[in-house]
Amino acid sequence: MEEKRIVIAGAGFGGLTTALAMSKDPAIARHGYDLVLIDRHPHHLYTAGLYEAAAVSRHFARDEYLASSVCIPLADIIRALPIRFVQGTLAGVDVRNRRVTLDSQGTLSYDYLVLALGAETNYFDIPGLKEYSAPLKTANDAVALRNKIEGIAKSKHSLSIVIGGAGATGVELAAELVNFLCVLEREKNPRAPACRTTVMLLEASRDILPGFDAHAVRRITRRLRHLGVIVKTGIPIIAASKDDITLKSGERVPYDVLVWTGGIKGPHILKTLKLPLSPKGTLVVDPGLRVMQTDGRVFAIGDNAWVAHPRTKRPIPATAQVAEQEARHVAKAISRAVRGKPIRRFRTMKKYPFVLAVGRKYAYADLLVMRFAGRIGWCVKQLIQLRYFLFILPWPRAATLWWRNMMLYHSND
Ligand SMILES: Cc1cc2nc3c(=O)[nH]c(=O)nc-3n(C[C@H](O)[C@H](O)[C@H](O)COP(=O)(O)OP(=O)(O)OC[C@H]3O[C@@H](n4cnc5c(N)ncnc54)[C@H](O)[C@@H]3O)c2cc1C
Repeated sequence: MEEKRIVIAGAGFGGLTTALAMSKDPAIARHGYDLVLIDRHPHHLYTAGLYEAAAVSRHFARDEYLASSVCIPLADIIRALPIRFVQGTLAGVDVRNRRVTLDSQGTLSYDYLVLALGAETNYFDIPGLKEYSAPLKTANDAVALRNKIEGIAKSKHSLSIVIGGAGATGVELAAELVNFLCVLEREKNPRAPACRTTVMLLEASRDILPGFDAHAVRRITRRLRHLGVIVKTGIPIIAASKDDITLKSGERVPYDVLVWTGGIKGPHILKTLKLPLSPKGTLVVDPGLRVMQTDGRVFAIGDNAWVAHPRTKRPIPATAQVAEQEARHVAKAISRAVRGKPIRRFRTMKKYPFVLAVGRKYAYADLLVMRFAGRIGWCVKQLIQLRYFLFILPWPRAATLWWRNMMLYHSND
């Protein structure tokens, strides 16, 4: 008799939350389903810590130590749970025969499939951008960026960093890099009167943080300017070369380090699956988060899914929180399906809460019922981080990781 199997592709925020939720659901085991979690990496990446990791001096952390602050081994997470982890890259999905293909591990049949493969950096075909800019999507990107900045800072008196894209990632990174550059300058010359570095944040839209409310945009813009970040909006980058970028206005901006945080798109693999895609290359889903034009047993969640808000018809934010919310919905939907019950609609929120760190111990937190800016916002951010670690890890491991990261990232404040 063939095994009954639920396959989850991608162990990021969405995939991992789905797997953890289903592993605790008695209906899944009672109906004899195996849970298989696939990822190309042996770890879960905590992306919310990447901007911090990119701004810690080598004096405080070696490369491996730094990477381990955001890469959490999946073996530690699923140790005592009924989840089988398979390390491999998803190379294809045969919807008709309900099979997935892995690059080096052959094929695997499924009864239900959850696609949670995240997103790729979108360079919008801007000439030179992919070639000359540094991305910030992985732990290696963060380590490479900090090493690059440190390397150049050693030989130059003043450093110019340009960040393209003032969404949440660009804003958090810009604020953190200002401090980092000052730390590096003080390491070189403890008696330097002031930092002579430039961090420029460029955004093509009219304001920073497109999609965020006006109050947050105003407060955060003010905070960035207070830190010394040069904020320029409404000016798209149209080309990049080895030494400078060209803006639509014709102005050329020289840089030492160029970082691109200006957009995401669906992972390339989705294009090969012959499933309906949105203009951003993400999977189009029905109100229950099932991928359109499939047999109803393939779900998509997180950054690789196109979920529009029913009122605005605009896509809901690509955040970890949304991926987790969708994951919980899909875990329940599959649980209902195996019990022969109909699947419910996914309910989007009218507005999503968020917390954005903006340099040192300052964060802007909008929790819908209240807003905080400053040190209280920063404390909220730390508590959210601890809560997430406690959700995925046994408490001693969660508490140790949280405390270790606090100490590490504090070195830059
Ligand atoms: C620098 C940065 C900072 C961020 N900060 C925040 C924040 O503070 N708060 C917040 O809410 N959101 C934040 N985000 C956004 C958040 O990380 C994403 O929205 C979230 O990770 C989406 O979850 P996901 O499960 O869809 O994808 P991911 O978490 O990206 O997971 C995708 C997984 O799929 C795996 N994968 C991909 N392709 C394959 C394949 N072919 N085969 C096998 N495995 C594959 C990947 O290895 C990865 O583990 C940040 C993003 C970045 C880049």
